[in-house]
Amino acid sequence: MTQRAFMNCALRSLPVLALLLLPGCALFEEGASLSNFHTVVLDPGHGGYDNGAKAVRGLPEKMLTLDVARRVKPLLEARGYHVVMTRTTDVFIPLGTRTAISNSRSDAAFVSIHFNSASRRAANGVETYYYNPRSAPLARNILNEIATCYGSHSRGTKYARYYVLHHNQRPATLLELGFVSNAQENNLLQNPSVRQRLAEKIATGISRGHGGRAPVATSGG
Ligand SMILES: [Zn+2]
Repeated sequence: MTQRAFMNCALRSLPVLALLLLPGCALFEEGASLSNFHTVVLDPGHGGYDNGAKAVRGLPEKMLTLDVARRVKPLLEARGYHVVMTRTTDVFIPLGTRTAISNSRSDAAFVSIHFNSASRRAANGVETYYYNPRSAPLARNILNEIATCYGSHSRGTKYARYYVLHHNQRPATLLELGFVSNAQENNLLQNPSVRQRLAEKIATGISRGHGGRAPVATSGG
């Protein structure tokens, strides 16, 4: 993600208070708990005219996110999950459409995939975000898996008011899988085998709360 204008330091440190004070924010739907999701909505960030972050060299963020999501999908299906992608090609999808896909499925969890960029070229590492505190375990489970997966380091799991998290009624997390603005990290991220390893760790992290396999579906979802 390249736009961080939404960030409000005071609210970042008080996620629960923010949830209570912000009118119009999507309230977490009862029943959509971390333990029972059977569908995973994979959301490759950006697409079409929205390139996302520009890499030092190689593929831009929008292509890296799509590639990783395509790799995660069969790994989750092998673990018994139903997988829905918000996009499968290089097209622009509005943020509202992305959250609508998630909110329309009662048994879904939402995982948005991004790569990072910073003007400080030395910045590096992976981080995961949540908005609703009930999504924090999902964000943490994935971070624990991807933290050091390609020699990267963990920047932690953080609260943020990203649109796709804030407007989501399902367990939702946004992953930042490394900095394409960092020459060394970008070199690794441009390598398909590194992205495959990331995909495997993401799938493991998503299924961690279920002991590695999707729970038996309770609704058509
Ligand atoms: Zn992004």
